[in-house]
Amino acid sequence: MNENSASASEVHDAFDREHLWHPYTSTHDPLPTFKVSEARGCEITLADGRRLLDGMSSWWCVIHGYNHPVLNNAMKEQIDRMSHVMFGGLTHEPAIELGKLLLSILPPSMQHIFYADSGSVAVEVALKMAVQAQNNPRRTNFATIRSGYHGDTWNAMSVCDPVTGMHSVFGSALPVRYFAPAPRCGFRDEWDPADFEPMRKLIEEHAEELAGVIVEPVVQGAGGMRFYHPQYLRELSATCREHGLLLIFDEIATGFGRTGRLFAWEHAGVEPDIMTIGKSLTGGYMTFSAVATNKRVADMISGGKAGVMMHGPTFMGNPLACAVALASTRLLLSLDWQGRVKHLEALMASRLEAARKLKCVTDVRVLGGIGVVELDHDVDLARFQQECVKRGVWIRPFGRNAYIMPPYLAVTDEQACHLADTLVALIAEGYA
Ligand code: PMP
Repeated sequence: MNENSASASEVHDAFDREHLWHPYTSTHDPLPTFKVSEARGCEITLADGRRLLDGMSSWWCVIHGYNHPVLNNAMKEQIDRMSHVMFGGLTHEPAIELGKLLLSILPPSMQHIFYADSGSVAVEVALKMAVQAQNNPRRTNFATIRSGYHGDTWNAMSVCDPVTGMHSVFGSALPVRYFAPAPRCGFRDEWDPADFEPMRKLIEEHAEELAGVIVEPVVQGAGGMRFYHPQYLRELSATCREHGLLLIFDEIATGFGRTGRLFAWEHAGVEPDIMTIGKSLTGGYMTFSAVATNKRVADMISGGKAGVMMHGPTFMGNPLACAVALASTRLLLSLDWQGRVKHLEALMASRLEAARKLKCVTDVRVLGGIGVVELDHDVDLARFQQECVKRGVWIRPFGRNAYIMPPYLAVTDEQACHLADTLVALIAEGYA
């Protein structure tokens, strides 16, 4: 990196640039990074004292804002008891209490919980559960929809969108999955039954090879920031049932109120067989996830070839993660989270509307605490973020999608409007 780009990038620490890999970056010409010294509420403070208003919730997970006293205390109290014990043969209060609370808010048929390390690992576990439950050497594959995203581990990658995902890099190393087109009917559109037909056909043709179908319900996140019609899920659920396929809802991004419902399955009212949650499960404090399933699937696994669920990570059920997840979820449920998301949705919708008349904007859409401005071109991330930081906001688009997703329980009206207005201004001025 030359002098100019180094100063332009405002990287304060050469070690970071030269030795630390950041997400999806090259060691030759890494994207700029900004050094953070602390974060509170909706503000991220850089090492040089500049303050950034957070529009990302650190990739969707920080729902209560940073440095929340309730979450801090939960971790401090837990760390003085034990930060970790193995979950093999041992158990503890935070895992039990969290499990009880989760089962009270997850789809009513969910009965069993598997704690995992991260979203991607939860997806691996969910896929493994489906294969084990089918207990049929021919029924081992999966179907999904285009424009999805399910994580960066091997099998999770294989069910991500083959174009925006990593199929082009890993090619034949990845298992080959079946992809139906992404649903075309938007969340608020009138339902068009033709929308589901390609998936129905796919399932009818390949049911004998399939263990299940995995989708992000209603909101497709990192694969395209798309909001699709809940009826699609009802059709999918009925078709899976008809053909003996297990339905997996990946609610890692949509869980804990972000879409306006506590979990996105509620928009459709159909329960999956297996469900993954993560990200804001801990209020964004720690990496942690959970896979929930119903009694039928648990019985199928327990009565199957192995007779046990074949997964058991070292940090399974980590007490610190359980304690902070419990505190975060209790806090969320004690607040008028639904009123807050509704209000934020209305604010973002009204302020982002101004982007619709910009020439390079192809769509503006808002659902719950997610506001998306889709462009007709990919955003130059380095240039865009440089300008964001100059203006005191933190927004990180991907591809053609510039979006804001602030910590919805912490952001003030003024902050939300400022984020939306700044995003529109950045696009209007040609920074995106
Ligand atoms: N599934 C979905 C729907 C996600 O949005 C993500 C993360 N963006 C993942 C899985 C993977 O989670 P993690 O990054 O914690 O591995």
